[in-house]
Amino acid sequence: MLEKLSEVQGFDLQLDALKEERSQTPAELLETRERRTDLAHRLERKKQDRDELRMRVANTELDLKAMQGRRKDASESSLRASSAKEASQYQNQELQFATRIQELEEDVLPLMESLEALEQEVDALQAQLDELQPTLDAMLSDEEARVADVDARAESIRQQRDTLATSLDGSLLRQYEQVRRARRGLGLVEIVDNQRCGGCSVRLPIHVIQKARRGPGVVRCPSCGRILWPKGDG
Ligand SMILES: [Zn+2]
Repeated sequence: MLEKLSEVQGFDLQLDALKEERSQTPAELLETRERRTDLAHRLERKKQDRDELRMRVANTELDLKAMQGRRKDASESSLRASSAKEASQYQNQELQFATRIQELEEDVLPLMESLEALEQEVDALQAQLDELQPTLDAMLSDEEARVADVDARAESIRQQRDTLATSLDGSLLRQYEQVRRARRGLGLVEIVDNQRCGGCSVRLPIHVIQKARRGPGVVRCPSCGRILWPKGDG
């Protein structure tokens, strides 16, 4: 019975190793994924800045256009004025609008330069992202295949394990599984040098060793609770 249990444990340990192997995502993939996320965030922020600036440029251009219209109106009105005084008033207005137009033009110029710079930064980030994507896709596809392979191997081992486990005594199997959960690893251990627990290395009392040898009941280490296997002694 313990021989079979040890085979079940062999499968369980293989499954533990596969679980560990499955979780080992390649560092290169993690780094590339992180780089992509970082690039995407930076791109998003730059796009926001660009959109805000675009709005400011558009608004300034609207103001400019309105002001140009008012200057034109003032200019035309001054030509149609019925008196020199009225003409002079319109000319003053025209001058004020012209000053405002000049101010707006001075405002909009650096804004447009900044906008152009931002557009270039957005394009550069987008290009980096576009360049990275196929690399990341290939890595993700490799990773998917790697995990699928591990899962297939695990599934095959799991089936062998479960088939074998059905031939074991239910109570023995439950005790074994309970210890394995509690101790994370071995549930069944050999008695080492005919005196020590192969799990926690504690020196076992003689009567425990004798009881384990005699069988047929399950004998557990009084210290760690693992099932003891007096291998070779029957
Ligand atoms: Zn022990």
